[in-house]
Amino acid sequence: MTTVYPVLERVRTIGSFDTPEQSVCPGSVEKLVLRLDDGNAVEAILIGTFGPRVKKALELDAVVERRLGQRLSRRLPYLQRKIRYETCVSTQVGCALDCQFCASSLVPFVRNMTEEELLNEIASVEAEIPSGGQLKKVIFAGVGEPLMNYDAVSTVVRRLAARGVRARINTVGVVPYLERMFAERLPTELIVSFHAPNDALRTELMPVGKGYPLAEIIRVLRTAPKDMLIEAKYLMLRELNDTLEHAAELASLVAGLPLMVTLQLYNRIEERSYRPSEPAQVLRFADALRARGIRVGMLNSNIGEPVSGGCGQLRARVINPSRRSRLPVV
Ligand code: SF4
Repeated sequence: MTTVYPVLERVRTIGSFDTPEQSVCPGSVEKLVLRLDDGNAVEAILIGTFGPRVKKALELDAVVERRLGQRLSRRLPYLQRKIRYETCVSTQVGCALDCQFCASSLVPFVRNMTEEELLNEIASVEAEIPSGGQLKKVIFAGVGEPLMNYDAVSTVVRRLAARGVRARINTVGVVPYLERMFAERLPTELIVSFHAPNDALRTELMPVGKGYPLAEIIRVLRTAPKDMLIEAKYLMLRELNDTLEHAAELASLVAGLPLMVTLQLYNRIEERSYRPSEPAQVLRFADALRARGIRVGMLNSNIGEPVSGGCGQLRARVINPSRRSRLPVV
């Protein structure tokens, strides 16, 4: 029997994902802070997006609406059924890894979540999906390092696979557990957070990098099952890791690996001075990677800022209400 946890705080935006390529993808993001049975709080996100065909239909509607001068509502029930729901869930109560750009590092690590708590967390988010909607994917990328809670996370991944829900694990690259998940052929997609093209910069941003240098991570990624979808995530931080020299260094690092580099804009947090890269610089960076034969994707992230979209932001606000001031516009 699953439990639906009480929602301590919820923030929702409905609108468009503005990507650095200026393309627009309609969707909604709802961030929830849930109270576990022992009183601890965890956060999870429900993301609803439309695929390209529905996007085309919406664009057509917008043209017709402009010509007619009135709103069209006839497509709404059809569109609601077409929304793809994903959830991004936490795997630990707090995180011990202290990544410098992350709001999860602002509040202390408490403990791993149990397998039962993970299932309840997913059920709590599913309870928010409007009737007719279906959860398609669970992304283990909220607060916590999923591979540091491997036994519980891997069991839940297998249970999701059994009911036809895809899983995606986002890790900083904890090498022994990467080796284990590859050996076990865990049915999941994988995102590895790179965020820097060399160990000196990476360990400044992510102290855990001292234990797991990039060369080790690359070595183990070469042994991944051929059918596992792998992405290297790269947070674009203005004037810190976003120069064309960094792009060239990153391209040499991942050359020959069967992965895509996903560039992500940064959701600012008050306590840190990091700023998101200029959109034009993100495009230049992407072009520099592509010119060296690297596949590049862009993660829609602007929509996340109004909902404290960076991992741990809303939970940190709930735990410490003084974090409610607005961010300065830059
Ligand atoms: S980015 Fe992930 S691993 Fe790093 S501190 Fe935040 S939650 Fe932990």
